Amino acid sequence: MSLKTVKSWIAGALAVGCFATAGAAQTPNPAPVGEPSTVEDMQAALFGGIPGDRWKEGLLFEGISPHPWLNSASNWFPGTEDVQPDEMRIIFMGTSPIIRPGQMNTSILVQLGNGENFVFDIGEGSVANYNASNIALNELDKIFITHLHVDHYGSLPYIYVFGGWSGRWHNPLRVWGPSSNAPEYGMAAMIDGMMKMLAWHRRAFSVFPVGEGHDIQVNEFDYLDEGGVIYDENGVTVTHWQRSHAMDGASAYRLDWNDMCFVWTGDGRPNMRDAKYAKGCDVYVTEAQTELVEISAGVAGVPPFLARYTIDTHHTPGYAAGYIANLVQPRMFLTTHMPFDPYLNEETVAEIREHWKGPYHFGAPDGIVVNVTKDQIWVREGIIPDYPNNRAPQFNFDNDQLRVPAPQYAREEIQNADIRATEIDPELYYPEGYHPELLTDWPTGDRDLIINIEDLPPSLREGMGDTWRKRKAAREANGLE
Ligand SMILES: [Zn+2]
Ligand SMILES: [Zn+2]
Repeated sequence: MSLKTVKSWIAGALAVGCFATAGAAQTPNPAPVGEPSTVEDMQAALFGGIPGDRWKEGLLFEGISPHPWLNSASNWFPGTEDVQPDEMRIIFMGTSPIIRPGQMNTSILVQLGNGENFVFDIGEGSVANYNASNIALNELDKIFITHLHVDHYGSLPYIYVFGGWSGRWHNPLRVWGPSSNAPEYGMAAMIDGMMKMLAWHRRAFSVFPVGEGHDIQVNEFDYLDEGGVIYDENGVTVTHWQRSHAMDGASAYRLDWNDMCFVWTGDGRPNMRDAKYAKGCDVYVTEAQTELVEISAGVAGVPPFLARYTIDTHHTPGYAAGYIANLVQPRMFLTTHMPFDPYLNEETVAEIREHWKGPYHFGAPDGIVVNVTKDQIWVREGIIPDYPNNRAPQFNFDNDQLRVPAPQYAREEIQNADIRATEIDPELYYPEGYHPELLTDWPTGDRDLIINIEDLPPSLREGMGDTWRKRKAAREANGLE
């Protein structure tokens, strides 16, 4: 490496802020100016004497390095970084079959540089992490469910009704999932059942502006049609294949976009199909169960026979996960759907490393973020706040208007008049001199409320149009509009 290269490396480091001390009020005295060291001395000190731009170590892999636009190489803070036009960003929103505060049930968000979000599984509790990650519920309208164990779809009812309440007014929720060996076990039958379960809720929420928010588009595909394309829009395709998970109707998914690829296998026993359909994928994610059955019985309270039987009929042991990764040869391999516990983690890595020597990271605990471009991948821990505020619902303002649909019902149509008549007179509890304008009837009756965006208060226009503006820019960068 020439001195020029060393200098350009330092200049690059300065440009990305490695040495930045913005706004420092006080800095130590500079060292006296001297003759620069020899290139050899600088190389020895900066790169271990090896030509290149960083130290070479056993676990440093080509292409595994932080992208220059990341605010921190160690942590992701929700809402502080935009997905770049050529980037795929993957966030683990739920990571364990055993739900607990730091690990919700399984869900993976894939965000693309063309402005699209894809949700793979939507396990119980994961919606809390979406809320905390500065993502509005009405930005989540494409959900791919691998199978119907409830730890993979428990948050669907919530996203469906509360997403409808908070702005999914002009398009249906779209859900994909496999059929099974009888109609009553397929995705469509589950959605039917969910609708029955939510009958009261849907009617009650119909006093709100919901519009099409209670529409749901169910895309049940034939689980036997392996390799079939179930989604093909805006340069994004999603394909599926079967997994062996005790019952028919468990599928894996592969998303391809911009010459990059993401696989989430869902649950299942190790199978050569995974190697076949995931072959060469950039980011390969599977589940892994660590072989510590007897120890885990003592620690986690699961009887060893139950753990052993569950793994051997349903799941992928750590050794097998590494074995398949070695066949797939991804640029980054992650395992999820696993407890993240210090007593387990070292053993998990040891099992994976039996067969897979390449880049590997846990897809756990919740909040792990993977930034992917064609030449770089970086994995970080997300810092997800405990008491976040919701993000404003996000709207497409292509028509330069905000349209708020009229509610389907007024309270009078779905509630007994007597119970309203006995509500306490607000004069009795509001302090003297405090008279808020109450909104007890929807102000526009059965007419939609339509406001040109230039007439919206700036805070609403900016807050509710943030994703729209960024998506427009991203789509232009991708030549889509
Ligand atoms: Zn599961
Ligand atoms: Zn399962």
